[in-house]
Amino acid sequence: MPEEPNDATPFLPERRSLTALREAAQECRGCHLWRPATQSVFGEGRKSSRVMLVGEQPGDKEDLAGKPFVGPAGRELDRGLEAAGIEREDAYVTNVVKHFKFEERGRRRIHQTPKRFEIDACGPWLDAELDVVKPEALVLLGGVAAKALLGSSFKVTQHRGELLESELAPIVSATIHPSAILRQRDDASRAAEREAFAEDLRVVAAALGRVERQH
Ligand code: SF4
Repeated sequence: MPEEPNDATPFLPERRSLTALREAAQECRGCHLWRPATQSVFGEGRKSSRVMLVGEQPGDKEDLAGKPFVGPAGRELDRGLEAAGIEREDAYVTNVVKHFKFEERGRRRIHQTPKRFEIDACGPWLDAELDVVKPEALVLLGGVAAKALLGSSFKVTQHRGELLESELAPIVSATIHPSAILRQRDDASRAAEREAFAEDLRVVAAALGRVERQH
């Protein structure tokens, strides 16, 4: 059992604007992950974004920059969005956990998967982002984010690119985390995974297009 607090709720501001939330998240001590990290990395994008993309947690580059998806995985995400015809400006990007969890190996900081209690502790921030942005489409990137929001039995490998029934948003879908593209063994596998990722995002773009035509 964790000895530290396990809930971000007391750190949430009364005013629920993205700016107020982002500032308050810097002071969050809702779990132990703030301690070794450089800073919290809150979501980024406009309140009016139609799409919200949720990953696992900031990585090394994101921790240093204070912005989500700015490292190599972020570049893959940008490529995927572009290939699917989703404007980056129309996308709000965030993570289920706002501090980088890592293990130091020499001078390198190696990503560690957050545990359930850490994801639960950080959940109020994501709930608040969903409340403010109210995206038309919610895309969960990778197994950690998908299980956090859709339940621990959800398997991205079985349901990637499907439109899912959920109260979270009118359109909900899950796909791989873009870092999975980078982990592929060779160029051919990377290209195939990149195309599959773009294809999953095209499903979301098409669903958004249908919503647009109805209005
Ligand atoms: S990971 Fe989340 S709950 Fe834990 S300290 Fe950071 S912002 Fe707070």
